[in-house]
Amino acid sequence: MSDEALDAGTGAAQQESRLALVRRARRMNRTLATAFPHVFAELDFTNPLELTVATILSAQCTDKRVNEVTPALFARYRTAADYAGARRDELEELIRPTGFYRNKATSLIGLGQALVEKHDGRVPGTLAELVELPGIGRKTANVVLGNAFDVPGITVDTHFLRLVARWRWTDETDPVKVEHAVGALIERKEWTLLSHRVIFHGRRVCHARRPACGVCLIARDCPSYGIGPTDPEAAAALVRGPETDHLLALAPTRARPRPRRRR
Ligand code: SF4
Repeated sequence: MSDEALDAGTGAAQQESRLALVRRARRMNRTLATAFPHVFAELDFTNPLELTVATILSAQCTDKRVNEVTPALFARYRTAADYAGARRDELEELIRPTGFYRNKATSLIGLGQALVEKHDGRVPGTLAELVELPGIGRKTANVVLGNAFDVPGITVDTHFLRLVARWRWTDETDPVKVEHAVGALIERKEWTLLSHRVIFHGRRVCHARRPACGVCLIARDCPSYGIGPTDPEAAAALVRGPETDHLLALAPTRARPRPRRRR
């Protein structure tokens, strides 16, 4: 365990020592790896430019909706130069279902222009260069780094913020501070996969309303256990997604509910 992990301050869980917090956070990450052995960016892409565009479109929109829009978009716009020279009305029409399409069209055209002018049409592979591009904040940059360039990055989205607060990994609420606080708890090589696991858990089990505490694999390490139903049958009905049967089979309950049919 690094000195940084042990020394970094946190206001979370005052009764819990720093060492105990680091150990608990890493144990939760390992358990989540068992729960979700095959995690990935839920946006469809085949190269860094497509991932960057998809991530920009995912603001205030579900990944599912973005994935419905991107096949036609990526077929029409294949390079940064294509976005730079896009006809605005045509681009807006293609991305309209993702919402905020005028702003997003502005970002995509600006992104294309910046990539052509400053990066020979290629998406750069550093945080500092990525956050200088139109429409790209730190969250998008970390998604692109982690998933297109294999550079470890922590993606702090709404699920991530909610879950690490419930777990009392940190009492920070600002996304950049949360990113640094969690980065000090978890091994760097785990950052990208941790981000996926936390987001998967947030979408499938630890919902904003009525989390499925009664069948949650990390319940024993979660200080918020009990904010959702603890009855296994009631909790099982709340689990979502294709891993439902797998999660219920692993559920640490005395009266384990029968796996349900996939929805
Ligand atoms: S025990 Fe409940 S609050 Fe804690 S992580 Fe699991 S589902 Fe979320």
